[in-house]
Amino acid sequence: MLEIKNLVKDYGNGPVLDGISIDVDRKEVLVIIGPSGCGKSTLLRCINGLEKIQGGEILLEGEKINDESINWSEVRQRIGMVFQNYELFPHMTILENITLGPTKVQNKNKRYVEESAKELLDRVGLLDKINSYPRELSGGQKQRVAIVRALLMEPEIMLFDEVTAALDPEMVREVLDVMLELAKQGSTMIIVTHEMNFARAVADRVIFMEKGHIVEEGEPEEFFTNPKTDRAKEFLNTFTFEKK
Ligand code: ADP
Ligand code: MG
Repeated sequence: MLEIKNLVKDYGNGPVLDGISIDVDRKEVLVIIGPSGCGKSTLLRCINGLEKIQGGEILLEGEKINDESINWSEVRQRIGMVFQNYELFPHMTILENITLGPTKVQNKNKRYVEESAKELLDRVGLLDKINSYPRELSGGQKQRVAIVRALLMEPEIMLFDEVTAALDPEMVREVLDVMLELAKQGSTMIIVTHEMNFARAVADRVIFMEKGHIVEEGEPEEFFTNPKTDRAKEFLNTFTFEKK
């Protein structure tokens, strides 16, 4: 459903993404890992149209979306993105925060949106916070709200960029569990994460990047137990070492 062909991104100091090609199938969960600075965030930002690209193509359902003529506000509604920093409006309740996009941008029926909002909040265990303000929630709860906010736009694919990286350790699990649940329900997702156990559990396929290139790609069991490249081996070792 998503095809990336030979993507090149250059901020002006040489390519940060240097000919990246990725296909994502419907209902597939693709996990992208790699050292800091290798281009993971840039890749997601390119897919979501937040960055102009210098080469290659991005197609969503066969439709080229990296075109000058494209209506980005429309495309972006088909691609949900959750970042490290959930940016909720402080002066709005949780319900107001999450229903704003679907009602104001997508012009969906308010009652329908609110019903879906309640259902989704319930699913992530936050129905009791529906009338709370962001300041009354923990980081993990706010991040779950941010995921619900993206889901309420009913995107075709969800992009997650290190969504647990800024959270206190005890809140990481509750957010990862929400993503695991989404995966089980068949959401199409691209997840950038440093949580290796989670990556292994959630991924249908893993891509390991370094310096703007895909170094290795494979099934999670194979990748995590028997990486083919020395670079992936080294990276996984470093990670295990840091975790202990
Ligand atoms: P990752 O998410 O894997 O840590 P990034 O995509 O954030 O990596 O960054 C990849 C490279 O692009 C880095 O060298 C970074 O310094 C550079 N970079 C990222 N954003 C910008 C920007 N807005 N302008 C210039 N360089 C950038
Ligand atoms: Mg990043």
